[in-house]
Formats: sequence, structure tokens, C-alpha cells
Amino acid sequence: MRGLLVGRMQPLHWGHIQVIERILDEVEEVIIGIGSAQVSHSIKDPFTAGERVMMITKALSENNVHASRYYIIPVQDIECNSLWVAHMEMLTPPFKHVYSGNPLVQRLFKEKGYEVTEPPLFNRKSYSGTEVRRRMLSGEKWEDLVPESVVEVINEIDGISRINQLSRKEVSDI
Ligand code: NAD
Repeated sequence: MRGLLVGRMQPLHWGHIQVIERILDEVEEVIIGIGSAQVSHSIKDPFTAGERVMMITKALSENNVHASRYYIIPVQDIECNSLWVAHMEMLTPPFKHVYSGNPLVQRLFKEKGYEVTEPPLFNRKSYSGTEVRRRMLSGEKWEDLVPESVVEVINEIDGISRINQLSRKEVSDI
């Protein structure tokens, strides 16, 4: 049996790893959809889909999740929410269960007859993309919130300097 988890993973953090491990206790394979794949280089979505693929692949390997147990599929957003489930179905292997804490995702899949489970949140105050990005911008320690391999990917792509530069306001000509 196969399950689906969709998330922006901006960036991947320990909450995502814990929920993936929990899903794999219930199903043989998990499809990890990287949502909003077309977006990058903004404060809310700093990392490209390819960079997020690297983070997930390396972090799952670091946590001894074998590659035979998951598929990573980048998925671009589309304008019509009512067509989004069909869009997901076109891009992914078939699946029966959907795991999501996102009310819109839950609603769209339920309306199409999928079984939807809301996984428990682990330490949501810290394990959240918003919190990781906030700490990156304010110069606080963010590394504990993500697996070591995610830190390595962010260092490789010079991610902190990217976020800092993006946060600077443009100085208009006087
Ligand atoms: P996210 O990265 O915030 O979270 C993904 C999932 O990870 C959550 O649903 C939750 O189950 C789990 N999670 C996160 N933190 C956790 C924690 N601390 N402990 C345990 N589990 C945790 O991503 P999201 O915002 O839910 O992503 C939804 C994606 O679907 C977005 O990219 C959105 O654009 C896309 N989407 C697109 C359309 C469209 O194109 N029309 C419609 C609906 C959704």
C-alpha cells in the first residue's frame, strides 16, 4: 500500500522526518510530493525544488530510510484547486491514503474519495518551516531544527546568504 504526503518543505525539518517515519509504519511506500515546486528565491520559499529533493534524499538516507520506500515528486501549483487532485494523480504513482495537516489539502482529497489522515504534530512550535526561516533571518540557531544533511545542503548552496540578501529592501535611486 502507498501513502501520499505533500509539503512545501521550505526547508525540510525534523517534523517532516518524524511524520514520514510514522507514515512508513503504516504503509509500504510513501510518495513525498514537493509542493509549490515552481517557487524559489523568496523569503517564504527560499529553496528550489531540486534543492529540496537533495534535502529529502540525503536526510532520509541519514535516518536509514531505504530509497525503495519512497518516491520524491516535485509538483507545481495550479490555478484551479478543484483540479489539483487530478494534477497530483497525473504526476505520482497511485496511492490510497493521504496524510496532511493542511485543511485545504485534506478537503480536496476527501471530496475525491481518498482516505485522509491528519498526523500528529511533533514539537510544532519549533519544527515548522516558518520558525526555521525566522531563525535563519534573525541570525539565531536554526541547525538543531533540521537534520545534519539539510544543514550541509543549505551550506553548499549558500542558503543563508541567499535569504539575507532577499530580505534586503531595494534601495531606490534618490
Ligand atoms: P508543509 O511543509 O508546511 O507541511 C507538510 C506536512 O508536513 C503537513 O501537512 C504536516 O502533515 C507535516 N508537518 C509539518 N510540520 C510538522 C511537525 N512539526 N510535526 C509533524 N508533521 C508536520 O506544507 P503544506 O503547506 O501543507 O504544503 C501543501 C502544498 O500543497 C503547498 O505547496 C500548496 O501550494 C500545495 N497545494 C496546491 C494546490 C494548488 O496548486 N491548487 C492546492 C492545494 C495545495
